[in-house]
Amino acid sequence: MPSIFTRIILREIPSHEVYRDAFVVAFLDIAPLARGHVLVVPIEECEFLHQLSDESAAALGQALPRIARAVLAATGTTAYNVLQNNGESAHQAVPHVHFHIIPKYLAPAIGGDGLAIQWNSQPLAVGDAAPLAAAIRERMGV
Ligand code: AMP
Repeated sequence: MPSIFTRIILREIPSHEVYRDAFVVAFLDIAPLARGHVLVVPIEECEFLHQLSDESAAALGQALPRIARAVLAATGTTAYNVLQNNGESAHQAVPHVHFHIIPKYLAPAIGGDGLAIQWNSQPLAVGDAAPLAAAIRERMGV
């Protein structure tokens, strides 16, 4: 069953497309958090970021700053968030990798409030930090 984003990529479902190359398609979010809210989607149909091929990941890495520059220029904004959710508990609603580019307007009345973030930070656990970093390094193969 193709995801809704694959159906948009295949143009079976209409969208306001802003970018397309061999690996990446971008279009306006249908329910924007702010004017100019764009979704950047790999054509490769993976649910989660960590499943992406290196080829798709590289293409996304190249496309994201280029699309962000175009969004800033078109909306006149200078600030924005890039959001990428993985998993239902992390607020992922569509099971096909996508990056949100969400402009942040200085005056909310102009373009909406953009993304609101609740940042529940805590001090890094001293005893856990070194073994945790080592465990991640080991799995990175470095
Ligand atoms: P997420 O919660 O990260 O999975 O975000 C999914 C996003 O997809 C939401 O911001 C939706 O508004 C957006 N969305 C869902 N269906 C469509 C559609 N047909 N066209 C454009 N955006 C969509």
